Amino acid sequence: MQIKAAVVEKPGAPFTIEDGINLHEVGPNDLRVHLVASGICHSDEVIRSGETPLSYPAILGHEGAGIVEEVGNAVTDFAPGDHVILSYYTDGTCDKCLSGHAGQCRNYTKGDLMGTRPDGDYNFSKDGVNIANMLNQSSFATTTVVHQRNAVKVAKDLDLRKIGPLGCGFVTGSGTVLNALQPRPGQTIAVFGTGAVGLAAMMAAKISGCTKIIAIDRNDNRLALAKELGATHTINTTKQDVVQTIKEWTGDGVDFTIDTTGVPALTKMAIDALTTGGTCAGIAVTANVVRVGEWSDLSAFDKHFVGVLMGDSVPQLDIPRLLEFYQLGWFPFDKTEKFFTFDQINEANEASKSGEVIKPVLIIDPDYQPGK
Ligand SMILES: [Zn+2]
Ligand SMILES: [Zn+2]
Repeated sequence: MQIKAAVVEKPGAPFTIEDGINLHEVGPNDLRVHLVASGICHSDEVIRSGETPLSYPAILGHEGAGIVEEVGNAVTDFAPGDHVILSYYTDGTCDKCLSGHAGQCRNYTKGDLMGTRPDGDYNFSKDGVNIANMLNQSSFATTTVVHQRNAVKVAKDLDLRKIGPLGCGFVTGSGTVLNALQPRPGQTIAVFGTGAVGLAAMMAAKISGCTKIIAIDRNDNRLALAKELGATHTINTTKQDVVQTIKEWTGDGVDFTIDTTGVPALTKMAIDALTTGGTCAGIAVTANVVRVGEWSDLSAFDKHFVGVLMGDSVPQLDIPRLLEFYQLGWFPFDKTEKFFTFDQINEANEASKSGEVIKPVLIIDPDYQPGK
């Protein structure tokens, strides 16, 4: 079938909405999904801009939510009409997946980052030219075909316009806390950057019982929202000395820091602000170089620096858990969202880049009505 999608022709080019794109047929393990909405994530911009190149032309988008239209003949857990959130692809069969670390899947690179389907075919083409996909999802499209392991089934009374970003940004931030760092009640944490990932980490820190949750950013409006969503303290990097202020509040530093920014000067602060034995999680997707400082900054104080991909999450376990938290009012991620039409994709992306909007969401199907 032919679909409409937002195509990036080459690194740095804007998104161009194009008709007449050929979509791969549904393979045995695939779902064809009619997209209702998709969040825009910083990783989309990293690839659009060419900072971390994929192959081009490409259809990006990896925070989709929609309705299953067709399933492959080997699919047993999904049926047409099911509502789904789309996440990244994992094979589900390797040693990493089987031990609960799907973010480390042995086939992550092959299945998610090569621009092709796990079977090696291209999912999209136009006029004889193959078009790369992203995370085997490509949700900036009216319809896509994904492997069943990209999808998480959700209840039909949830608003599909809101929940797509649980597939990447919000699961990344919350999973870094709930799965990777696992703070105990009463421990302390500082989160560098109050984008969607950072705010999700703070909401998860509150759920975990952290008693000092310190939000760090340069934007006062975002810090105010951080406070509303769980931060107990805020630091504006343009007005306060970050490390000194954290040490004043905590005595010796925090138990955990999360650097969502990837800005080398901030990463260094995130390590310096740790107490003895503390752990910093670096989770930015960036080509920047990590600067730790002197070796003794780590070894003399038994500090840990870890990378975490996708919140060390198993989407099929973590996303339903986040939806439960959301319904209890503990994880109000939708307060960060702003809706745009599909045609406004470049404007929405700019609003995210400037920091004006934390989580832009494209409404791809304007006729969708929640709860139906
Ligand atoms: Zn993402
Ligand atoms: Zn795997």
